Amino acid sequence: MSGMPARALAAAATVVVCAGVGAALGLAIGAPTAAAIVAAAAGAAALAAWDAARGQALMDWLRGPQAGPAPREAGWWGEMAYRIERALRLRDTAIEQEGQRLRDFLEGIEASPNGVLLLDGSDQIEWCNSTAAEHLQLDPERDRGQRITNLVRAPVFVAYLQAGRFDDSVAFPAPNGRATLSAVVRRYGDGMKLVLSQDITERERAEAMRRDFVANVSHEIRTPLTVLAGFIETLAQLPLTEVERQRVMSLMTQQTDRMQSLVGDLLTLAQLEGSPRPPVDRWLSVPELLQRVQADGLALSGGRHTLEFTGGDDAEIAGSDTELLSALGNLVNNAVRYTPAGGRINVAWRWRDDGGAEIAVTDTGPGIAREHLPRLTERFYRVDGSRSRETGGTGLGLSIVKHVVQRHGGEIDITSEVGKGSTFKLALPALRLRRHVAAIPAPALPA
Ligand code: ADP
Repeated sequence: MSGMPARALAAAATVVVCAGVGAALGLAIGAPTAAAIVAAAAGAAALAAWDAARGQALMDWLRGPQAGPAPREAGWWGEMAYRIERALRLRDTAIEQEGQRLRDFLEGIEASPNGVLLLDGSDQIEWCNSTAAEHLQLDPERDRGQRITNLVRAPVFVAYLQAGRFDDSVAFPAPNGRATLSAVVRRYGDGMKLVLSQDITERERAEAMRRDFVANVSHEIRTPLTVLAGFIETLAQLPLTEVERQRVMSLMTQQTDRMQSLVGDLLTLAQLEGSPRPPVDRWLSVPELLQRVQADGLALSGGRHTLEFTGGDDAEIAGSDTELLSALGNLVNNAVRYTPAGGRINVAWRWRDDGGAEIAVTDTGPGIAREHLPRLTERFYRVDGSRSRETGGTGLGLSIVKHVVQRHGGEIDITSEVGKGSTFKLALPALRLRRHVAAIPAPALPA
């Protein structure tokens, strides 16, 4: 039995028992009825007071922060306290679980590489992740509730937000002035907006470089083609003497050679960019590499320069022989092409204390002014365009050298003084180098 019937029965039983005890005691004084009534009333009052005290204990607990356990009473009040406490605990757990879900969710958005910004119906900031804060120079706490267009004032962005047509993204300069951002807006909920931002500086730069590159290549190819077209026209229309014809043919050959070198260098660059790094376990003999570079250099110089190769006799390098030959060949080729007859070209290998090494190609040529040095390895960058083209240069040599040396874990360093000469130094890491151990001669057998 439980609930109200049990409580009513227990109360009635208490009153009856009290009345019975009162009647028994009342017999002694000759007034059993009166004593029974008084005792029953006293019993009912005591019962009510006890019940009220138990109810008050539960009320006190409910009015407080419910930090400790609910009053542990037996019976009706006890069960009520237990049920209230359980309902509260279940609610607390559900709230805690929801809170945790929200925290996980926000952490997930926080980890996004994109900036995420939530705006209310009046374009006021509700929340943003730290990437959006960094992109748009916002303070996630301080700027909450601020209208976004008061803080991000780039006119293109403001116009985009106000126009309300969000099919495409919009590109605009970042508030710090150092980057280009792209933003796209999606509507959600009741007039709310989700703004996703992205830093597209690198993408824009790569795109601009690609455009420049295509324009440069087209220009480089168009010039010899125009010259060739002119010669073909001349050959077709004018009766030339044999001497003139020979001259035209030789000039045409020069132009086709130029285009061939250009296409060759472009293919080399494309290959360098599109292939995996050279192997670290394919060991090449440095003296053999240098000998081949020396032979090509001597042939190109045709005795007009003194070429000197020193060091590296005991060295081996792990990498690609075609790439390394191309890099060293380009440096010696440049030194020969730019150094006037009678000049000296020195190629020196030097071990460093950290196990790495340097190959330095030094010439006594015209030298390069300081302001050009940082840009020399850019594609098609030339200090003296006509000298480069006259001597068969494509403007791509040093960018090939830089690529090759970086693919081998090293770097290029250029020093030069106008009027004195230049040094192009390739630094190579210890990881790709080892000293060749000469075979130990077998001990002579006793006769
Ligand atoms: P190019 O095919 O024009 O030689 P590179 O990329 O090899 O192209 O070199 C870029 C520019 O650097 C050259 O046009 C030239 O002006 C300059 N340069 C390279 N090597 C030397 C050098 N040894 N002495 C002087 N100038 C050099």
